[in-house]
Amino acid sequence: MASEDVGVAAAVEVEEERKSAALEAEEKVASHFFILTPSGEEIPPEDFDFEGRENLWKFYIYEKAKRREVERAPPHVELMRRLEIADYEPASDPGNLRFYPKGKLVKSLIEDFVRSAVEEFGASEVETPLMYGIMHPTLSEYLNRFPARQYEIVGKHGKPELFLRFAACFGQFLLAKDASISYRNLPLRLFELAASFRKEKRGELVGLRRLRKFTMPDMHTFCKSEEEAIEEFKRQFGLCMRVLEEIGFSKEDYEVAIRFTRDFYEAHRDFIQELVRMAGKPVLAEMWEERFFYFVLKFEFNFVDATGKASALSTVQIDVENARRYGIKYVDANGEEKHPIILHCSPSGAIERCIYALLERAFLKMEREIRFAYAACLALSNAGSHYSSCDEASASRIASFKCPQKRRHPC
Ligand SMILES: [Zn+2]
Repeated sequence: MASEDVGVAAAVEVEEERKSAALEAEEKVASHFFILTPSGEEIPPEDFDFEGRENLWKFYIYEKAKRREVERAPPHVELMRRLEIADYEPASDPGNLRFYPKGKLVKSLIEDFVRSAVEEFGASEVETPLMYGIMHPTLSEYLNRFPARQYEIVGKHGKPELFLRFAACFGQFLLAKDASISYRNLPLRLFELAASFRKEKRGELVGLRRLRKFTMPDMHTFCKSEEEAIEEFKRQFGLCMRVLEEIGFSKEDYEVAIRFTRDFYEAHRDFIQELVRMAGKPVLAEMWEERFFYFVLKFEFNFVDATGKASALSTVQIDVENARRYGIKYVDANGEEKHPIILHCSPSGAIERCIYALLERAFLKMEREIRFAYAACLALSNAGSHYSSCDEASASRIASFKCPQKRRHPC
């Protein structure tokens, strides 16, 4: 190996170590969980009665263990292929899928709907680049803090020169930095619906659930005060519920997580309780002792699939750090320059993930119906009904029909 190559290899190794240390730090930020109920109770998970809340239980277990590795393929993978929606593309990097005509139609219909819902909400659509220079002073500071899942493009000298964006935040922040914003323009909402990229770990990639390239509706709202940000957060919580409902999910189809720093919770307990009442059912709360991330409050609506893994659909965050980092300012009523508070919102989550959740839900529904039919047949044959043409052997055949996961659920 030439000495230059040795240098590059060593640099790559240091870079890999830096990334894995960052991933580890990301996974070990101290927090604790509890359940919040619409009647205002705060209950430790070990004392909460999960009876009738099986998905909330699965979601809590998933969150506690944070095991994102795929242990078995979720059933939507077979469905996405059988229904000719999407498939893996062997000629690309893993996690970059191809969409067939039917899948592309479904995807475009959801995109059109989300776009119109967000425009109706008062956002202006923009378009910003998909890739950015890794040495840009503001971006590199941000990337150095969160280097773990960067999708990098290596240049001529074997070092990364560009990275593919992992959300639309950078583009919209750089745009807002160069805009003249008055307090009269606030809250100001910018919106984009385009591809984003995350170099997820190989073992975590599966079907439409976790991808390296996905289509993300991304809205950022610039607010003049904490009070305005809280009001806007509440409105966006409602927006996300409506968007998911229109796509086809009822409240029972997802589990709500609300996450905050201790300081924020102590100052705004009533507001958090109001969100729980809007959710209309117990939610999982996560509290960080101190702020490691750029936000003080976030929520997600999470779908729990047939393999017990949870994935976030809608989300909103209150960001108290990036306006300062990017130099985004507005002029207040006294003519003074101030930094706004920024809300990050994805009203539906990645479009591919919505399709994944619709397919998984269809599978779970079909599985429930088959199990119900099987139980009914068994009851009839056990009762010795002469009129039942369904004995145990044929009931078993019915139960296994189109039920690839049957062996996990011995009926
Ligand atoms: Zn963002």
